[in-house]
Amino acid sequence: MGEFDLIERFFKRPARRAVLGIGDDCALLQTPAGSHMAISTDMLVQGRHFFTDVDPRCLGHKALAVNLSDLAACGAEPMGFTLALALPHIDEVWLAAFAGGLFALADSHGCELVGGDTTRGPLTIGITVFGSVPAPGGQSQALLRSGAHPGDDIYASGHLGDARLALQALQGQLSLPPALLKATRLRLEEPSPRIALGMALRGLASAAMDLSDGLVGDLGHLLKASQVGATLNTETVLERMAARSHDVWAGAGVSHAQALHCVLSGGDDYELLFTAPPTARSAVLAAAQSSDTPVTCIGRIDAQPGLRLLDATGAPMPHHFASFDHFA
Ligand code: ADP
Ligand code: MG
Repeated sequence: MGEFDLIERFFKRPARRAVLGIGDDCALLQTPAGSHMAISTDMLVQGRHFFTDVDPRCLGHKALAVNLSDLAACGAEPMGFTLALALPHIDEVWLAAFAGGLFALADSHGCELVGGDTTRGPLTIGITVFGSVPAPGGQSQALLRSGAHPGDDIYASGHLGDARLALQALQGQLSLPPALLKATRLRLEEPSPRIALGMALRGLASAAMDLSDGLVGDLGHLLKASQVGATLNTETVLERMAARSHDVWAGAGVSHAQALHCVLSGGDDYELLFTAPPTARSAVLAAAQSSDTPVTCIGRIDAQPGLRLLDATGAPMPHHFASFDHFA
């Protein structure tokens, strides 16, 4: 099987939403009238972002999920994506499973594969997603990192920390009971991009971003972009954002410090972090309900720039929850 048979067999499907899909030199997309296009790229490299032996169906899902999460963060509606694929060799069983995971998620969000590139090389997956955001009168409704104001509530969706916990277990750094490993591993390998919540937060959230590199580091980016600050009570965040209680952690052999670290700086969560004025509280709850996504208030924006962390006693806590940095 050659490059073109591979594309034909595993990735080419009749264009639905696109004006022109796979097969020509460019794809053509029509954005809805009065909207802006939202574009984001994320790359997954074997050995760096995933284990060599990861289930290819999960990999197909995750490669697109991390990209859709960026669209969610901006409140964009997914339209299509391109797939740049480097493969060491052609493994038809692997490709069928990878494409299966990829298209299952793509179809559930009406996001169409419109093109890409295929080459031989160390397994690498690069996806670029395209979405649309209403822009009536040229005024974009996209959610940005830069709009938080002092007094705004800080919210996060879903739960935090499970992906990191699973990663540590898979790396042999701790051992989890089978049921807990299964649940946390699902969060690591098959995250759910919060598209519906992002769209419901348009015109409501003052600032937003998705959580890919850990809450503390990512919140730091949002605060910096908005030129504001915040004080977080780490114990409150742990209690509200962990998927399970202290007792369950303890029973599974996870220390309080480990749990805190997973929730505050774990990364790979793909939840939304956003801010909204207190006057919007009931509207935020309605957005959470209509999108069927749990949302929790974890703190408040203040005017003093930077992020301050408090421990259980309310004492300032030293920062060792830096954001993930590939070159640090
Ligand atoms: P070009 O030489 O113009 O870059 P290619 O020969 O690489 O085009 O690709 C042929 C067609 O197949 C193009 O429409 C391209 O977008 C599409 N394509 C290539 N690889 C992939 C892929 N992995 N997934 C989806 N479409 C792909
Ligand atoms: Mg090409």
